Amino acid sequence: MADPRGFLKVRDRELPARRPVPVRLMDWGEVYARREEDSAALTRQAGRCMDCGIPFCHNGCPLGNLIPEWNDLTRTGRWAEAIEALHATNNFPDFTGRLCPAPCESACVLGINQPAVTIKNIEQSIIDEAFERGLVTPQVPDRLTGSTVAVIGSGPAGLAAAQQLTRTGHTVAVYERDDAIGGLLRYGIPEFKMEKRHLDRRLEQMAAEGTRFRPGVAVGSDLTGTELLERYDAVVLAIGATVRRELPVPGRDLAGVHQAMDYLPQANRSSHGEYVPDQITAAGKDVVIIGGGDTGADCLGTALRQGATNVVQLEIMPRPPEERPPGQPWPTYPTLYRVSSAHEEGGRRVYATSTVELVGDERGRVSHLRVVEVTFTEGRLEQVPGTEQLIPAQLVLLAMGFTGVPTDGLVGQLGLEVDPRGRIVRDERFGTAQEPVFVAGDAGRGQSLIVWAIAEGRAAAAGVDAYLRGRTDLPAPITPDTVSLTV
Ligand SMILES: Cc1cc2nc3c(=O)[nH]c(=O)nc-3n(C[C@H](O)[C@H](O)[C@H](O)COP(=O)(O)OP(=O)(O)OC[C@H]3O[C@@H](n4cnc5c(N)ncnc54)[C@H](O)[C@@H]3O)c2cc1C
Ligand code: SF4
Repeated sequence: MADPRGFLKVRDRELPARRPVPVRLMDWGEVYARREEDSAALTRQAGRCMDCGIPFCHNGCPLGNLIPEWNDLTRTGRWAEAIEALHATNNFPDFTGRLCPAPCESACVLGINQPAVTIKNIEQSIIDEAFERGLVTPQVPDRLTGSTVAVIGSGPAGLAAAQQLTRTGHTVAVYERDDAIGGLLRYGIPEFKMEKRHLDRRLEQMAAEGTRFRPGVAVGSDLTGTELLERYDAVVLAIGATVRRELPVPGRDLAGVHQAMDYLPQANRSSHGEYVPDQITAAGKDVVIIGGGDTGADCLGTALRQGATNVVQLEIMPRPPEERPPGQPWPTYPTLYRVSSAHEEGGRRVYATSTVELVGDERGRVSHLRVVEVTFTEGRLEQVPGTEQLIPAQLVLLAMGFTGVPTDGLVGQLGLEVDPRGRIVRDERFGTAQEPVFVAGDAGRGQSLIVWAIAEGRAAAAGVDAYLRGRTDLPAPITPDTVSLTV
């Protein structure tokens, strides 16, 4: 039972303080420092949950997290029950609690006329507390089914599918072409958003449960599609949407112009103390990031930590409003002007601007971008005459998103259909026409979010289990067609 007067007694949102910008720019650690006084604020925030008759936050969360339940368990300090309720729907709240854009909060009923409950922070606090109290232990299956499953790709979708299937008793091997497990959690997302120790302790738990990890194996070349199907009873492709969107303008080939996903993995490695030969670095440079999304913000925070002289982030779309526009009412997840931790730290955001040329110096290195202001008229992009300008840059990072899966290699070998948006086509059980191949995560949904990847991994695991055993008790929070009111 929630505190019936909690939301009347505490009207404001309280979040843990972020570390001061000058301090956090000197290291790669997470921006929030855990402090003792936060626990009282956490209890107050959890007490603001109204335990609504229809908790719209459930629908806002792609995993269907049992938010009012664990809010009240947090308020009353029942940590063991809180983590049990949280894990019932989410394999990795340690990842979502740090990285999710929290569409649940946009759908919080309190948000109609008060600031929403700090759901995401409560989620993170439950899992952090649970690890500290030793409440997160391996869930080893009672018996093995004798069936084998290969999961290809070790991002959040692959890991969620693997954990669900291992716990059910199937023998699961996760293949990853990179030298370490984790997908974008490992080499895409910077340490300052999620320290990798959180990923590593989950992998320890999964290994203790029986999941086998095979890093450094590119399936499609080191192991062919045919070999895969000979060795395993079922296959889950969780290979992400890794084809990067390009910038087809003159000067694209100049030295100093890089894809964000060539830059961020190197920075991640180096922040873990690894030596990266010929590392792309922003130190001492004017940096321009093309793309205003998460990846662009990650480049910004990374460039500032590397000691960039100046950073500009370009976005082709107009600057979003700061308040909900009438066309995006509660409980939708509105497109708003958001300030991520990286944006607090420095740099300048420039909206409604398109790059028409990358200009080089006599040595073939990028020196400037020629940009122009743009407007959208009836959905058509138009350049505004007379607005051209040059922006200096010795490093240009392309963070314009991803266009889907590569159609050669494994996808081609398995004869899988790919739709015009670069997504592998699957049926309502997450299966493909090539039995027994299933698909989960960005590879099937298109470029998305961690919370969706986990939901996909859980649902695909239910599809695989039903295929292998003829029935399943595993939950499937979504179907491949599930779209959200939110993100
Ligand atoms: C820089 C960046 C920052 C982001 N930040 C956020 C954020 O803050 N919050 C959020 O919710 N989302 C964020 N996202 C999106 C989120 O990371 C993805 O939606 C999510 O990781 C998708 O999970 P996935 O498991 O489907 O694929 P991925 O995480 O992409 O993992 C796929 C894995 O498959 C491997 N693989 C591919 N082909 C093969 C093969 N043939 N053989 C073996 N292995 C293979 C790849 O190497 C990769 O490791 C971000 C994305 C990027 C790029
Ligand atoms: S996973 Fe994301 S949407 Fe779901 S409860 Fe957590 S923060 Fe909210």
